[in-house]
Amino acid sequence: MNEMIDLRSDTLTRPTPGMRAAMAAAEVGDDVFNEDPTVNRLQERVAALLGKEAAMFVPSGTMSNQICVRAHTQPGDELLCEATCHIYQYEQGGAAVLSGVTCRTLEGDYGIIDLSQLDDKIRPCNEHLVRTRLVCLENTHNRGGGRIYPMEKIEAISSWARQNGLAMHLDGARLWNAVVASGVPASEWARHFDSVSVCFSKGLGAPVGSALAGPKEFMARARRIRKLFGGGMRQVGILAAAALYALDNHIERMADDHANARVIAQGIADTPGLRLTPPEVETNLVWFEVDPELGTSQDVAATLKQRGIRIHPAGKHVMRAVAHLDVSAAQAERTAETIRQSLRQMAPAR
Ligand SMILES: *Cc1c(COP(=O)(O)O)cnc(C)c1O
Repeated sequence: MNEMIDLRSDTLTRPTPGMRAAMAAAEVGDDVFNEDPTVNRLQERVAALLGKEAAMFVPSGTMSNQICVRAHTQPGDELLCEATCHIYQYEQGGAAVLSGVTCRTLEGDYGIIDLSQLDDKIRPCNEHLVRTRLVCLENTHNRGGGRIYPMEKIEAISSWARQNGLAMHLDGARLWNAVVASGVPASEWARHFDSVSVCFSKGLGAPVGSALAGPKEFMARARRIRKLFGGGMRQVGILAAAALYALDNHIERMADDHANARVIAQGIADTPGLRLTPPEVETNLVWFEVDPELGTSQDVAATLKQRGIRIHPAGKHVMRAVAHLDVSAAQAERTAETIRQSLRQMAPAR
């Protein structure tokens, strides 16, 4: 029996020997005192990559996003976002719980919203109403199928937001995937946002960690909020070293993940009863739907697991397969072939 191919998430990667060596060798200090040299190096590196004045290392992407929401708003403010975005869907209502902020959601096209949906959504100044304050976008968009946000849409939304005094936040948990797939540098994507959050624990393959970046004055507020949220860490250069190693060694290789995702997607596209959503796979995420005639996503997951492949049943008929650092080209081929063969057998005769 071959080893299990685990495609449930790009958070499943384990640190490589090179990354572990970098972690073991990391110089450290107390980061709450600003005295961890490896964290400081990482923060300077991220700020430079994103073209921002400052950056800060944080434990998770969720904390990173929620610190930004808090730093941009006052209780009684509202943020505008797409209905399936991580900040709204997968952070336990953190904007409400931690910042007293409501979310107004817009239906996206696989996660992508257009300025025409936003430009009448700023609440007038009126004592009955919340204050519209912030726009949050996600690139690439997880629930949207790993789609890359079209740059012209970001530009239009950003210049409108600036004209209207709204802040812009980017959830860039998978911004690196967008960078590799589009060839557009991170700083060019980030230019249109006041704050940007990026993850090291997804496709980059670090065990832990995210960072947020923005203007100095904003980051000073963000740093206080990180402490408030319990995210002040001490000799955390050990983890920053993994993130630095990932930035040095694991960005360009994500092109392999994107190629592997397309191979897996082809297996899905070839299988009656499965439908890619969206039909085009742009990065490392492969979302698809299971025709009820074939069964539920749990049925498909169980069939594939018996054959050594794990794919996440994200909803009753919705599934997500993710290519990542611990999935080889041969394993992607085997996945596609297994899907074609085993699910065809599962399909009822028509
Ligand atoms: C994973 C993810 C995050 C943050 O997740 P954590 O598990 O808290 O690090 C944020 N946004 C998106 C789009 C993500 O996929």
